This record gives sequence, C-alpha cells and structure tokens, in this order.
Amino acid sequence: MQSQAPHANQRPPGGFRHGIWACWMVLALSLGLSAFAWQESRRAVDHHLNSEFNALIQETRRKLDERITDYTQVLRGVTGLFAAAEGRVSRDDFRRYVTTLELDLHYPALPAVAFARHVRAQDLDGFIDEMRRSGIEDFSVRPPGRRDAYVINAFSEPFVGGNVKALGYDMWQDADRRATMERAAASGQPMITRRITLRIDETVNPVPAFIMYLPVTMNGEILGYVLSPFRMPTLLQDLLGRNDEFLSLAIHDGAEATPDTLFYRSRPEDNATPRLVTRQTLEVGGRRWTLEFSSRPGLEAAAEIGRPWLVLGLGVAFSLLLFGITWSLSRVTDRAEAIADEKTRSLRENQSLLQGIVDNSSAVIFVKGLDGRFLLVNSVYETLFKVTKADIYGKTDFDIFPREVAEIFVENDRKVLDGGAALTIEEEAPHPDGTRTYLTVKFPIPGIDGVPIAICGIATDITEHKTATARMAEINSRLESQAEQLRRSNAELEQFAYVASHDLQEPLRMISSYAQLISRRYGDTLDRDGQDFIAFMVEGASRMQAMILDLLEFSRIGRREDQPTDINAADGVAATLRNLSSAIQKTGAAVEYHDMPHIRVRSHQFLALMQNLIGNAVKYRHPGRPPAIRITARRDGGMWEFAVTDNGIGIQPQYFERIFLIFQRLHTRDKYEGSGIGLAICKKIVEHHGGRIWVESVPDQGSTFRFTLPAAGESDG
Ligand code: ADP
Repeated sequence: MQSQAPHANQRPPGGFRHGIWACWMVLALSLGLSAFAWQESRRAVDHHLNSEFNALIQETRRKLDERITDYTQVLRGVTGLFAAAEGRVSRDDFRRYVTTLELDLHYPALPAVAFARHVRAQDLDGFIDEMRRSGIEDFSVRPPGRRDAYVINAFSEPFVGGNVKALGYDMWQDADRRATMERAAASGQPMITRRITLRIDETVNPVPAFIMYLPVTMNGEILGYVLSPFRMPTLLQDLLGRNDEFLSLAIHDGAEATPDTLFYRSRPEDNATPRLVTRQTLEVGGRRWTLEFSSRPGLEAAAEIGRPWLVLGLGVAFSLLLFGITWSLSRVTDRAEAIADEKTRSLRENQSLLQGIVDNSSAVIFVKGLDGRFLLVNSVYETLFKVTKADIYGKTDFDIFPREVAEIFVENDRKVLDGGAALTIEEEAPHPDGTRTYLTVKFPIPGIDGVPIAICGIATDITEHKTATARMAEINSRLESQAEQLRRSNAELEQFAYVASHDLQEPLRMISSYAQLISRRYGDTLDRDGQDFIAFMVEGASRMQAMILDLLEFSRIGRREDQPTDINAADGVAATLRNLSSAIQKTGAAVEYHDMPHIRVRSHQFLALMQNLIGNAVKYRHPGRPPAIRITARRDGGMWEFAVTDNGIGIQPQYFERIFLIFQRLHTRDKYEGSGIGLAICKKIVEHHGGRIWVESVPDQGSTFRFTLPAAGESDG
C-alpha cells in the first residue's frame, strides 16, 4: 500500500525566477528609498537655504533703510538750521554748519549739501543782487530766460570745484527735479529724483546717482529746498559687509530691471546662475526701487547644497550593494533549494521504494523507534493485526497487545539493542483466531554515526511449519520404533533360520543314514513297494539336507561382520568360471567379459553372486543353441552397473519379481535341477552392498540380469 500524500514543502517550478524577482524588488525598494531620502534631504537643504537667504535679505534691507535714514538726517539737520534762524541763513552760516558735518568722513556718498532758493519772477532781480552782494560778483541764473518761478542753487558746500559751478542753476525748469520738489513740498518729506548721472561726475567718473530734496518752509511759505546728490556706489559701499560672500544685491530704479535702470550692483555678476533670486520693492523718497537679491556660492556651500547628491550617491551605491548581496544570496538559496528538492525527491523515491518492497513482502515487517513507538509497518502487519498505518504510527506494543505479550516483545527489543546485533527469536502473538508463532529477525538500524536509531523486525509465521514439524517428529519416532521392532524380529528370524537349519542337519543326517541302513540290511526282505518307499525317503532327506544347506548359506549373508575390500571384478569372474568349468565345457557355452571395473565388495559374496547368475545362464540354456554369455559393466555415479546377458529360454515378464523370492521356481525339478534360492541369495548379497538387482528378458530369446555394486574406493554402503 503506497501512501503518497502530496508533500507540504513541494516547491512550484520557477523558484529561481521568484528569487530573481525578489532581488529586483529589493533593488527597486532601496532605490526608491534612496530617491526619497534624496528628496527629503533636498527639501531640508532648500528649506535651510531659503530661510538663510531670507534672513540675509531682511538684514540687508534693514541696513539699507538705516543707511538712507542716516543720510536723510543730514538734510533734516539743514532744515533745522533754517528754522532756527527763521530763514535768515547766510552763506557763511551754511558753510559753517556743513563743515561741522564732516561730510568726507561721515557721509562720503554726499559730494555736496546745497540750498536752492524759491524765487518768483518779480523777485528774480532782487535775488541776483542779493547774491552778488554776498560776494559772488558774476552770479547769474542758468539757464537764462524769463520764467514764472525759479528754484535756484544758492548755497553749495563744500564750496569747491563743481559745487562752485553749480551755483545759479535753476532746478525748477528741469521737469524731473521739479516733479520731485513738488512731491516733497506737498508731503513735507524728503523726495528723490530718478536715476541720474551727476554733472560734476559726467566727465570724470559717471556713476549712478540721485538727488534728494527736502522743502524749507517759513510761515507756510516754501522758502526753498535743501538738496543733496547721492552717489549710489558710495552710499551703499560695504552695505553687505561679510554677507557679500553669501548674497549679492542689485538695485534698479523703478519697477523694471534692465541694464538702463541699474542703480547699484554689490559686485560684478557671478558666472554661475544663482540658485535663489528674489525681487522686492523698496520705497525711497517717493520712488520705487526694485531690489534683486541673488544667492552666492558661499551660501550654497554653507547650506551643504551638495548633501542630497551625496545622499543619493550613497543610497544608489548601497542599493546596488544590497542588490548584489541579495542576488548572490538568492543564487545560493536557489542552488540550495534545487539540491534540497533533488534530495527530497530521491528520499521520497527511496521511501516509496522501501514501502513498495516492504509492502510486497510476505513477512511481517515493522520498525520501531528507540522509544518503542512504531515508525513503519507493512501491509501484512496491517492485515494480520487488524490495524492501519495511521492508527499504529506513534503507538507502542502496549497499545496493541496484552500487557504480558507486549512486555516480552519490548524485552526482546532491549536484548537486540543491548547486543547491537541481529537476533532471531521465536515470538508468539495473539490473533482473533488463536495464538500464532513467528520467527522474528530483529536488528538495530544504525544512524549516520553508527549509533542505533531504530529497531527493525522481520517476522515469518511459522505456526504451520511448527505443527508439521511436530507431526513429523511424531511419525519419525513411530517409524523408528517400528523399524526397531522389524530389525528385532528380522534378527530373531535369521537367528531362528540359522539355528533351525544348523540344528536340523543332525536329525536329518540320522534319518538319511538309518534309511540307507534299512535299505542295505533289509532290502532283500522288502517287496518292491517297500524298497521304493525307502528310496523316496532317502532322496527326500537328502533334498531337505540340500535345502537346509542353502538356507544356512542364505541366512549367513550379513551375519559375518567382515569388511568389503577393493577387488578387480575380472578376477572374481575368472574364479567363478574356473568353478563352473565342467558345466561350461559340457554345454559348449561361450563366456565373454572385458573392461571389468574395480569394486568394493566382500569377495566371497561377489563370487557366490556371479556363480549363481552364470550358473543359471548355463542351466536355463535354449535347447536349440549353445549358451552365449556376455558380462559387461558401466559406471553409474558411485556405483558400477553389471549386466549378465544370456541367449537362454528367457522369462515371462510377470515373473520378473517373483524369481528373486526364496524357494520360488518356475520349473519342476525333473526339468531343471534347483532349490529356488539362488536369486534370493543374489538379491540379499547385492542389497547388503547397497545396490539393487533386476531382470530384463524376452522369452525364448534370452535374459539380462543387471545389478549395481559400489565402485572401488567409494563408501561401502
Ligand atoms: P533354481 O535355479 O534353483 O531354480 P533360482 O533362484 O536360481 O533357483 O532361479 C529361480 C528361477 O528363475 C528358476 O527356477 C528359473 O525358472 C528362473 N531362472 C533363473 N535364471 C534364469 C535364466 N538365466 N534363464 C531363464 N530362467 C531363469
């Protein structure tokens, strides 16, 4: 019975591809994680970069504000001067005030601080007079011409170079300046022009600049404007300070950012495109400036902008490494699984092979663990003990058999394990139809290290065999006793025959002697009948004597314990022929023999045997032809088979057995002389040597007597 349940760990085909899939999954997952880490890192860096950038911008804007406010204070100070002097400020007052400001030192961006007087058309001439009187003899208003109103540069300090030339310039006629002044007058706040190039710088060093105006009022009337030109590069010099490394600033006048509107640049543009660029607006003196902040490599380095790429690089390298490891692991696992599959398959094949052999055995086969629990039984076991494999596995003998039987089994198992070798034990097991006897070979099953791990039993039911053996032993002993009885009665019979024939000789001789005496002494007085009767008596006695002699000879065979010897059969035959020479001569018989073997016999018995057979061949010759006798021999195993063939009268088949019995004859005495004991003697001699004798014959043609005798040097039978 095969129990081939599908196995739980049977791997579906394509396990290798699954392993590869797992590797690719690992790679994809770890690459995904790397990308995620890269993204996260980038976000963190961006965040850091942005917040740093914004902080720098805030700081820069604050500094810018402070600086402009700082400079604006200069103009406010001048309006203070006018207020204090109720508008009557002389050029000397003005100069002294401005000198105390130490523009070169504290406000380097200001090449001049000036005051421009508001002059109506009707007051122009008076104003010119006033200016000429104050010491500027060639004072004139530029550009010339009559206009409704003027705002004319009256004081300009420090009073050197271009500042001197600027005196007399009417700013009101310049649309941009006029608009600026109107805004300042309307708001009372400092206002600035748009981006210009200062006339004093035009030829020497044209740099972007603007002019700031602040109105000076007296009793609600506009007296004029304090003004100051600002050189942007100087104004914003060192604005960024150390932050220059992280940030650059460009300022454009207005909302546009073009090269034409460029007001200020903290440094020449970098070659690399900045990572972060922000545009903001700033209100300065009523004008809108556009501030363009750009990040610089220093900021990016400080923010470790390269870190995400490092993270990504390391992540990818790690993923590839992981992939390599899982790949080689999966290859190793695949190989291991393939080997395991192969092993499992061959193990299962071996198992079913074993189960097949075991189940098809006629013997009862079982295997128990060292704890006595059944691990395997075959179908015969199931059938005999009416259990199933499922029932019995894991159980012990005590679960199946009565306690006393189980104890014997377990004790036998222990002996086998203690001895470490196979034992053949007769065990008896109860069955529903009675107890049966098993011849069980029990042997330990060694594990890999040679230490027994289980015990196996192969049991053959010998109940029938045992019964038969017992019956045979009984029959044998009965036969033995019968044979013994037979031997005893045979011996008694032979003893009787011997004693009888021996002891009968004497009284018979007496009868014969006295009958002869009566015949001699009283023969004349007897009538013819009396004489005949006496003659019959004498003849009968002598015949009886002859029979008794024969019987004596017969009974002697086997009595004498002489041992057989190796003789040449040819010598025996020759001696026999000498004894029979007269009969041979008389009948003209021809006797032929050659290739006679060496045999192991009692030689006088071989002579008697041959004499009886050759004698009979001569005696029972055919009346129509002289006897022709042939003696041959052929090897038959350890024996020699002799044949004595004649061409005599032959024998009817129905007498083939009878002629070997004692005193059995086929003819009357007047036809052929004889007592009928010759062949009985032959049979006894042959059988006494372990051979057998039989006859083959065709009546009227001849007979062949065959017999076997042991070959020389063979066992004496
Ligand atoms: P006996 O010769 O004294 O009669 P045997 O025991 O020798 O006794 O022989 C038994 C009988 O077997 C003989 O009476 C004879 O009839 C038959 N017999 C024996 N030998 C031959 C033979 N060679 N040919 C024919 N008949 C034979």
